Amino acid sequence: MKWRGRERSSNIEDRRGTTVGGGGGFGRGGLGYNPFGSGGGFRIPSGGRSSGLGLLGTLVAIGIILVLMGINPLDLLTGTGPTAPTQVSTSQLPSTNATEDELAQFVGVVVKETENLWGEVFKQNNLTYEPPKVVLFSEQTTSACGIADASSGPFYCPNDQKVYIDLSFYEQLRRQFGAPGDFAQAYVIAHEIGHHVQQLTGVLPEFNRMRPQLSQGDQNAYSVKVELQADCYAGVWANYVNQEKLLDQGDIEEAINAANAIGDDMLTRGTVQPRNFTHGTSAQRMAWLKRGLESGDVGQCDTFASGAV
Ligand SMILES: [Zn+2]
Repeated sequence: MKWRGRERSSNIEDRRGTTVGGGGGFGRGGLGYNPFGSGGGFRIPSGGRSSGLGLLGTLVAIGIILVLMGINPLDLLTGTGPTAPTQVSTSQLPSTNATEDELAQFVGVVVKETENLWGEVFKQNNLTYEPPKVVLFSEQTTSACGIADASSGPFYCPNDQKVYIDLSFYEQLRRQFGAPGDFAQAYVIAHEIGHHVQQLTGVLPEFNRMRPQLSQGDQNAYSVKVELQADCYAGVWANYVNQEKLLDQGDIEEAINAANAIGDDMLTRGTVQPRNFTHGTSAQRMAWLKRGLESGDVGQCDTFASGAV
């Protein structure tokens, strides 16, 4: 991605080097129980093919519908708990501060580009996009959803409306998941920002509201729709930066490869248990990313439509 020299977001909260201890009232087990209540899903009305953007407004205005599903405590891109991949020891990582500083700059540009896209989309629907803060941390930090550490993976916390990223995750993405490339990294960010959009449109709040009434299976099914919609939104963002001529040869493939690498079936080596199936298969993730990418239309991201997933 051609990102160097481009404007960076002012919403980056750099906490690297300020490791937080186990205090703060969260305790080590803080994350274990589902702090990041990934939120719920709102049903996005389908139809209205003419202006996909109109759907977003409709969604918000109408108040939306619902269905709930998923769970996923940390709303991690990569999964956690029993399904989480073995963590690469930090000592094996060659990352230097210089490398991470460059990554931090890259993240700043990517976030800025998401602000540009979603600012436009919301504006076209007579809404105002309030961008989230994006927290960069190393080792451990606190969030309104509990303590985050390297094993958390990138996630969005609806309670404080912030995205949390430990930059060492990118090394893991490259080595362990076989998903190298800066656009694979950009996809991860765009996906998490997609969850913030869902927060603003009411999808996540509705999910959290309904979740207690849902069975585990229904929660998981709902979670998959939420995750695939975030993938589709990441695709819409990729379409946007492509129109800006910021993509390099191979960028699209990098993102699709990443979506393939982190599907629930890949993370668990094909033995997905229903209770762990919260993000969708690799095929589903690639399909919804491509759908957003090829259409550039948020109206195409209605994973809640009957039969869509
Ligand atoms: Zn997600």
